[in-house]
Amino acid sequence: MAGLITRFAPSPTGPLHLGHAFSALCAWDQAQAARGRFLLRIEDIDRARCKLRFETAILDDLRWLGLDWPTPVMRQSARMPAYAKALGRLDAMGLTYRCTCTRGDIRAALSAPQEGAPVLGPDGPVYPGTCRGAGHDAADAAIRLDMRKAVALAGPPVFVETGPIHPGRHAISAEHMIEAVGDIVLARRDIGTSYHLSVVVDDAAQGITLVTRGADLFDATAIHALLQRLLGLPTPGYHHHRLIRDEAGKRLAKRDDARALARFREDGATPADIRAMFGL
Ligand code: GLU
Ligand code: ZN
Repeated sequence: MAGLITRFAPSPTGPLHLGHAFSALCAWDQAQAARGRFLLRIEDIDRARCKLRFETAILDDLRWLGLDWPTPVMRQSARMPAYAKALGRLDAMGLTYRCTCTRGDIRAALSAPQEGAPVLGPDGPVYPGTCRGAGHDAADAAIRLDMRKAVALAGPPVFVETGPIHPGRHAISAEHMIEAVGDIVLARRDIGTSYHLSVVVDDAAQGITLVTRGADLFDATAIHALLQRLLGLPTPGYHHHRLIRDEAGKRLAKRDDARALARFREDGATPADIRAMFGL
């Protein structure tokens, strides 16, 4: 595949752990195999949780693994105008509304007897739509996508997966998007954007042709393909790799410092040892 461009997009909220190292190596190896390019992007929209010391340590770990990338590295905290523009576009299409619900409000609405069992979507419980049609104009509100209108306009999202878990072409029905994904947050009230919006805007801005990331983000891909269609952006290919699990079989969390790559470095592991541990 000529011209392949992939990326690794860490959020510097903790040290690079083994799961992230695996993700970075998967992306790197795919770029190498295709004589393509490997890009890095710092996903630091959540300024309160992201720390420069983590970012510095992550870059150091990646270099130690033998990876390199073009500079300057794209950083999401510098891209707020691009996200605002995309949001404005969706807003002008009549697809957004302001939501003043707290987490507690949403929990309470979902536990109302007529609601049935809450459906778990890619972002947690599917939003019950409380503020849809309420016409809030509070400045400090979250901005949600009206999913029913969005799929009516864009049609069902489609993407092609080349990873080992769900390979093939995926077309997600309007019904699934409405019932099982729902009115996702496009802009958090504290941040002015969201993971979904910024990742879609930035993958396009970086010319990414293959998104490589963990299988935990597979379900979010339908959202991304939909936003790409609404915003007139190309849909890249997707490759979701398996998740590296620890001995207990639970997903590795960044706060679990015992699994930080730095620990393995301190203990004398080589990059080849790390690769071998992953079966790469
Ligand atoms: N920043 C995300 C993370 O650390 C990855 C997002 C993506 O690859 O789409 O999990
Ligand atoms: Zn609301």
